[in-house]
Amino acid sequence: TGTSSPLSVPPKKPQPWVQVVGHAGSFHAGDYGMLLKRYTEGEQKCLQRLMEDSLRPFVPGYHGVVQRAEQDYNMMDDLLTHFNSPAIMDCKMGTRTYLEEDLAKAREWPQPRQDMYEKMVDVDPEAPTTEERALQAVLKTRYMQWRETLSSTTTLGFRIEGLKKADGVCNTDFKRTKSREEVMQALQDFVGCNTLIVDYRSLSLLFQKGYLRRMKDLRLVLETSIFFRTHEVVGSSLLFVHDSTGKTGVWMIDFGRTVSLPPPLTLDHRTPWIEGNREDGYLWGLDNLIDVLTDMLHL
Ligand code: ATP
Ligand code: MG
Ligand code: MG
Repeated sequence: TGTSSPLSVPPKKPQPWVQVVGHAGSFHAGDYGMLLKRYTEGEQKCLQRLMEDSLRPFVPGYHGVVQRAEQDYNMMDDLLTHFNSPAIMDCKMGTRTYLEEDLAKAREWPQPRQDMYEKMVDVDPEAPTTEERALQAVLKTRYMQWRETLSSTTTLGFRIEGLKKADGVCNTDFKRTKSREEVMQALQDFVGCNTLIVDYRSLSLLFQKGYLRRMKDLRLVLETSIFFRTHEVVGSSLLFVHDSTGKTGVWMIDFGRTVSLPPPLTLDHRTPWIEGNREDGYLWGLDNLIDVLTDMLHL
């Protein structure tokens, strides 16, 4: 099932589903450990293909489309089902979180945007150029690219979107978590725990080792997966889950912005992005994430 638990504990009742980030209205907890996510055709296609791919053990099982109150949903496994009060982290992978086609669309109508200028100034008054300042507006393309440089997305190829710790404390305030040290601090905080049952340091090490093993397994499969080679994977996350029994799991989620490439084009997901090559930096980001976690083990 993609999880491993070194400590044996009796099976628990199904846990209520918890959402860390994303649009709240898009989800419904289904019956029997299922999760319903608002339907998009693109995500359905990906999930269908993934069920036939070597990546299947690393994604939630897909169970087709269901309707609730006239809305269609993709039905998939709730990955939290077999955890007991889990800690959850969503890491958005890749060096960019918009598609090349988003850039193209934004260019068709190159309208200076005042709202985006204001958002930019709110975060960093120094960010706008002299021209942009004179206009009191920025182009959407410029805004999209600037936004990526705030977090670790461009520099590390992943960013923490949000996390919920075992004690229930949530944090989604990582938009400016950028440096390797800041990221490591956040990860350390996520795997840290203050339980009195087991020595907390050894439990924390157990999580790190479980996560590392799983990410290395995932990397091996990604390097040979046909699905992965033939898709631009943007805005997709790795979901990390652990609980006080020592169980850990990592899965790929969110294929709403994953698009198939026109054959015979393929990606290695490590080559730096130059507009037109469609590279997304996903594997480069995973390499970096594995490196950061490995360094943490040796602290
Ligand atoms: P966005 O595009 O803004 O990232 P979204 O609406 O596409 O969000 P997802 O990213 O797919 O939604 O999921 C949002 C959150 O819901 C995840 O961070 C995770 O906490 C939870 N989630 C999603 N899929 C699953 C799943 N199969 N099992 C358990 N939790 C899930
Ligand atoms: Mg998401
Ligand atoms: Mg999404």
